[in-house]
Amino acid sequence: METREERNARHKRAMQRKKTLVDARIAAATQDKGLLLVLTGNGKGKSSSAFGMLARSVGHGLRCGVVQFIKGQWECGEHLLFQNHPLVEFHVMNTGFTWETQDREKDIAAARATWQHAAQLLSNPEVQVVLLDELTYMLTYGYLDATEVLAALAARPPRQHVIVTGRNASEGLIAMADTVSEVQDIRHAFNHGIRVQKGIDY
Ligand code: ATP
Ligand code: MG
Repeated sequence: METREERNARHKRAMQRKKTLVDARIAAATQDKGLLLVLTGNGKGKSSSAFGMLARSVGHGLRCGVVQFIKGQWECGEHLLFQNHPLVEFHVMNTGFTWETQDREKDIAAARATWQHAAQLLSNPEVQVVLLDELTYMLTYGYLDATEVLAALAARPPRQHVIVTGRNASEGLIAMADTVSEVQDIRHAFNHGIRVQKGIDY
């Protein structure tokens, strides 16, 4: 049987091999660039991950912009936290969920008006991080012109990071992105009779 010393020596060799590989990968990643990140999928964690990156960015003193394309029933903690923050310009589409408004024309007008704020942020090189929360729905519903949205993303300042969230991200958006995560739904408490919880869900 392997002695404790032999086991520890084997662990050390394995970790040395791993460190060589990790160090080589770190050394190979030498570029800086404004990233396009897409957080999609049916599971919980897209917007909260995006706002996690916003919190990191604000922590580092970066100037940020947020556009939320769907406003829920509840006042979100992220809005309360960042709406008056000097580093954050925060816009919320002034309609609720599309199944709440039940008015397509009104939703389209609101989406287009809200997109103007996004377009402005995407053309301002002083804004270092832009979060377009729930943008994908505006494209799947056809409320915004996908070609126009992708063109604005492509033409943004080269060092500006953009985070897009929402289910069913289009192929075009995914193809453009530098980092794409699909959050998979395994279980969600809401589907088991638990109502939305402050801090966790909104
Ligand atoms: P979060 O904001 O919590 O990160 P999300 O952005 O991934 O969630 P959305 O589709 O934007 O998900 O939905 C927002 C709300 O719906 C949140 O209250 C969230 O907890 C809830 N939710 C997200 N995914 C699911 C799901 N698979 N089943 C039920 N409710 C969900
Ligand atoms: Mg979300």
